[in-house]
Amino acid sequence: MDERELEAAIKFHGHFGPFLALGLRLGEFALTHLKARKHFGIKVTVHCPPQPPPSCLVDGLQVSTGATYGKRNIELIPSEEIVVQFVNTDTGGMLTVRVPKDVREQLSTWLKELGEGEASKRVLETDGLFEVIESAHP
Ligand SMILES: [Zn+2]
Repeated sequence: MDERELEAAIKFHGHFGPFLALGLRLGEFALTHLKARKHFGIKVTVHCPPQPPPSCLVDGLQVSTGATYGKRNIELIPSEEIVVQFVNTDTGGMLTVRVPKDVREQLSTWLKELGEGEASKRVLETDGLFEVIESAHP
């Protein structure tokens, strides 16, 4: 993620929070993994708690994948867990990732200890914040 993209994401969302950062990472990973076309070649289904901060994830995903609320290719399904499914609509390839509960706790701890900006930077720099639970390439 280059600096300009990050700035655009923060401008769009209104603040630089750790769940926004997590959404950016998940979306980037999925586009690369599925070799999907940004904006029109991807569908994203987000299972997560339907209120901020966890739902801020959705905005990170919109910016990074180009799937948007207006185009109807991203949706939020209220859930206790955070699981995101991506489909490459050109190939039918599918990827599902989960953000484990201990990672969510880690994000809250960073937020408390480091403040928003530093916590979010940490999210951009740390690997292993999510796990692939399903991957299918037709
Ligand atoms: Zn937010």
